[in-house]
Amino acid sequence: MSSRCGRGEGQGAAVVIIGGGVTGLSAGWWLAREGVDTLVLDAAAAGWGASGRNGGGCSHHHSPLFREEQRLWPLMDEMLGYPTEFQRNRIRIALDERQFDLYRRASDNGTRQGFRSEVLDPKQVRELVPLAGDNVFGGYFYHFGGHANPHRTLQAYAWALRDCGGRLLQHTRALGFDTRGNRVVSVKTSRGTLACDHVVIAAGPATGEIAALLGVTVPLMSARAEMIVTEPLPPMTLGGVDGNGLYGRQTLRGNLAYGGGPHEWIDLADAEHTRPYSTPLQASIARRLCELLPKAAHARVIRSWAGFIENTPDGRPIIDRPAAVQNLTIATLSSVGFGLSPASGRAIRDLVVTGTCGFTDVSTLTLSRFTSLQPDWTALQGWLPSLVRGGE
Ligand SMILES: Cc1cc2nc3c(=O)[nH]c(=O)nc-3n(C[C@H](O)[C@H](O)[C@H](O)COP(=O)(O)OP(=O)(O)OC[C@H]3O[C@@H](n4cnc5c(N)ncnc54)[C@H](O)[C@@H]3O)c2cc1C
Repeated sequence: MSSRCGRGEGQGAAVVIIGGGVTGLSAGWWLAREGVDTLVLDAAAAGWGASGRNGGGCSHHHSPLFREEQRLWPLMDEMLGYPTEFQRNRIRIALDERQFDLYRRASDNGTRQGFRSEVLDPKQVRELVPLAGDNVFGGYFYHFGGHANPHRTLQAYAWALRDCGGRLLQHTRALGFDTRGNRVVSVKTSRGTLACDHVVIAAGPATGEIAALLGVTVPLMSARAEMIVTEPLPPMTLGGVDGNGLYGRQTLRGNLAYGGGPHEWIDLADAEHTRPYSTPLQASIARRLCELLPKAAHARVIRSWAGFIENTPDGRPIIDRPAAVQNLTIATLSSVGFGLSPASGRAIRDLVVTGTCGFTDVSTLTLSRFTSLQPDWTALQGWLPSLVRGGE
């Protein structure tokens, strides 16, 4: 990998990253801080995808990137030079025995990897979470995980990328590639051709269709997810409180920002599926939030939005350099990309620069695990696009 290649603005870069969400921006920042000439491009504004619309959770104990995720988050404000509003730890409230048993998995997973958790009785939950009610069955205090502000974090990555000499081209869509042998030599975009030594495709749900232009199959299905935000409430000691099938956080201002499935499978190629509209899911999230935090039930919902989440068949990220193209890295995070972004960016940097991840084993995240996938895997999993509209 050559470092500063001396190409001028608009003419390309040593590494061109397609996708200016948290994955692409973090990878770009990790590369640029090592002096690698890096250009991140996005078809829309940076963070226009799921990266600017998510719950801000940073607790992915199932991932091989988990330890690095946990190590890096408390350091990110200093490393980036801008605030992410990261706050440590998480409380998960169970309203019944089934939820309590389910949430124990996070505790067990954390313990296996050296992170502490405590079981909370209903009284302890109510002491720690003043908005909780009499319906609490129990809970867990995870001394790991936490949450950050997605918009602050995106902005921090973008500014830090620029501070390190990296470039971000917004409103620039990747349309195709020029190749020589099994190498990509340039990316064709809506604003001209960008020469490159290496290309990273980190385009969220669009990663599959872009990789297909290079003959690389990336199995992905998109789902629509929603978040609601309440008016501000008195700040709790710990903003990372979830449960009852919801994820979310209390912002520094006091708003409760929550989301949670079931998600709606969509067809990105169908304009009808990508049109913004309200669905019954918002009402379901609001109802479950009232159950989770009954003392917040009076609060008005002041905002809501939807975003599209990328999903692989086994729910695990893909971070890989497929053998078919010598200078290509694929990175799509399968619905856990915000929290993992400090670590995924570092892993992508390693793959681009040295061909292998230097801090953890990412062999379980390669594309080769899908070689025997059935062509109709989405139907077999029941992930079929459908339209659910509010009021119908
Ligand atoms: C409601 C919701 C809640 C969520 N909650 C959490 C959470 O609490 N914790 C967590 O870790 N994750 C959460 N997620 C998932 C997380 O947001 C995503 O996994 C993550 O943002 C993916 O980041 P990304 O950069 O890989 O992709 P994206 O954010 O999707 O970014 C991809 C970018 O690529 C660009 N692009 C697409 N096609 C092209 C092209 N042809 N040329 C150039 N650019 C292109 C898009 O414009 C987009 O900006 C949530 C997601 C949603 C929607």
